[in-house]
Amino acid sequence: MSKKQIAQVRAVELRNRIQEYLDVKGTIPKGTAPTQQEKAEQKKKRILAHLQGTEEDWNDYKWQLKNRISDLETLRELISLDEAEIEAVRTVGEKFRWSVSPYYLSLIDDDNKYDPIKLQSIPVLAELNEEGFADPMAEEYTNPAGAITRRYPDRVIINVTNQCAMYCRHCQRRRNIGSSDLHTSRKQLQKSIDYIKANPEIRDVLITGGDALLLSDAALDWLLGELDAIESVEFIRLGSRVLVTMPQRITDNLVSILKKYPPLYINTQFNHPKELTPEAKEACDKLVNAGIPLGNQAVLLNGINNDKYVMRLLNQELLKFRVRPYYIFHAKRVIGTMHFRTSIDDGIEIMEYLRGFTSGMAIPTYIINAPQGHGKTPLMPEYLISRGKDHVTIRTWEGRVFDVPNSPTRDIKEFI
Ligand code: SF4
Repeated sequence: MSKKQIAQVRAVELRNRIQEYLDVKGTIPKGTAPTQQEKAEQKKKRILAHLQGTEEDWNDYKWQLKNRISDLETLRELISLDEAEIEAVRTVGEKFRWSVSPYYLSLIDDDNKYDPIKLQSIPVLAELNEEGFADPMAEEYTNPAGAITRRYPDRVIINVTNQCAMYCRHCQRRRNIGSSDLHTSRKQLQKSIDYIKANPEIRDVLITGGDALLLSDAALDWLLGELDAIESVEFIRLGSRVLVTMPQRITDNLVSILKKYPPLYINTQFNHPKELTPEAKEACDKLVNAGIPLGNQAVLLNGINNDKYVMRLLNQELLKFRVRPYYIFHAKRVIGTMHFRTSIDDGIEIMEYLRGFTSGMAIPTYIINAPQGHGKTPLMPEYLISRGKDHVTIRTWEGRVFDVPNSPTRDIKEFI
């Protein structure tokens, strides 16, 4: 065979390698698909009519925030729920807060009982399972001052609020959600700034919550200005899910504030291609056009994205939105979220079906958090010491060794 013929045979072989993916890709719901957009538009009209809002209101994040749906009567009017689901929302709501922005609610597909948007936003009875820990990362033991969490040598987190546009059912910090929205006081923020000033080895500060972008523009401007003025701080990161749950928050004024403090990075959490809507794209574009790089930290969630092709499509779509896939987090053992946990094998399979099958830029790192806050540990050969049916053994960045459970994944339908 000639060189050209060999290359042609190889090209066919390569295409065949992704044929199965190409066959299913079109069946995975995604936010930019015309059918999905049409459904979301219909639902939006219904929500606006019910809340007596206008198009202008819809595009105003303050209206979105003020009108978060958090009572069962309104919810029943706006999405279809059967009797068992209604009872579940009522019962779980007595224990755990729930609240959904009108925008995120508009993405729920009533024709799919297991819609990924619905699973992330609407309580189910499985949340009452008491297995797990409230604080598996022992964050309460890593707070040296103010609102700081310190788990690594050269970087810290400042927790600025417990407020979010939507209280994700899988939230790994749900113990902080409480029963009301609370921003961290200026006094606590000042103590955090003073701590960073007093510890010049800190070069990277992550502002998070809750959702960092739910601070007011003025509060963000002040905090970013204070941190930017500290010589030893090399860059700032913001952790926010508003790009997913309330993209209206990305206003021109907010962008003009954020762009004053480069280098500033935003990490967000898209978990399913259905969340990548035209509205989310517009918000991402505004930030990227202002020079703010975006990264995605997906959480591996049972019934939502623990599928090699859903995750491949998610990461490919993210690149189209100029959001770089950064991490896939293995879900922690948090009380009330155990039904979302998958086996570690699910995550490893997803990674095996990314490398080579798609662009390296579409490949995040699969991370498990070592117990008691001992750090993010990539599930890669040099950190994965052994892998058994029930447990895997990992080595952290400090060389500490931990056994972590590798429970089999159960069908999400068992829980709902
Ligand atoms: S936005 Fe983040 S902090 Fe807020 S509920 Fe969702 S996962 Fe938790």
